[in-house]
Amino acid sequence: MTITVEVRMNSLRVDVLAFEAPCERCSFSFWWVFALLPSHRPRGDEFTTTDFPAAVETARDILADPDSEPGLREQLADRPAWQRGRGFNPNRCASCGHQAVWHTFEKIVDEALYGGWIHAAVGRVPVERWRAVRGGGQGISWPYC
Ligand SMILES: [Zn+2]
Repeated sequence: MTITVEVRMNSLRVDVLAFEAPCERCSFSFWWVFALLPSHRPRGDEFTTTDFPAAVETARDILADPDSEPGLREQLADRPAWQRGRGFNPNRCASCGHQAVWHTFEKIVDEALYGGWIHAAVGRVPVERWRAVRGGGQGISWPYC
């Protein structure tokens, strides 16, 4: 019992957020995994875009839950060798496999800030791991807190 309580105190529930938008190459519409956010009483500055490796890894782990939106985990890719800059877009088109550049990802995040996003999955993340990734990426404050 004590062990269970300790595990719960050392982790928190984190949501994976996704937004539906078309592929710029084939126009197929799919869910872009764009952010992580604590499930309970999140603060705006904890909003974490999924455009850097540690956030992508965290999203993958949460999306491994069988109750997650299907296919999203498989759609997440690592930074391709040709992508340069601070961040990258981890989403591959679910139809043609195209992995758009970070600038396209940035536009998706901007659109998602106006609504229409979904909670694609929820999972527990160790507090230490969350502290290491939260607020990373684009440094946007989430307006829905
Ligand atoms: Zn496509």
